[in-house]
Amino acid sequence: MRNSTLTRRQILGHGVRLTVVGATPALLTACTKPELHCEDVSGLREDDVALRKQLEYRDVSPHGESKNCKSCAFYLAGKKNECGRCTLVKGPIHPLGYCSSWAAKG
Ligand code: SF4
Repeated sequence: MRNSTLTRRQILGHGVRLTVVGATPALLTACTKPELHCEDVSGLREDDVALRKQLEYRDVSPHGESKNCKSCAFYLAGKKNECGRCTLVKGPIHPLGYCSSWAAKG
């Protein structure tokens, strides 16, 4: 006759498998979600595009988390997973972006 009680190892094994199966859709969504790009300047005036270039705006800060648009005094956050704006540089602004006018929030 087979013992119907589950061992601790069997219970833990089932728990791990259920966790992996439950997390898979979220992982797939995160992996397939398009990256945020904030470099479309098609709606901007020429002088705004020129200023953006002059200040060397880019979507990825060379200073990482220590200096990026998100931590800049001029940054205006957008909705979740959307580009923000800047009071100096026109057009879409990436929260992890950077330009030469970066200034610490006061
Ligand atoms: S001033 Fe430059 S660093 Fe600051 S939010 Fe605007 S684009 Fe980003």
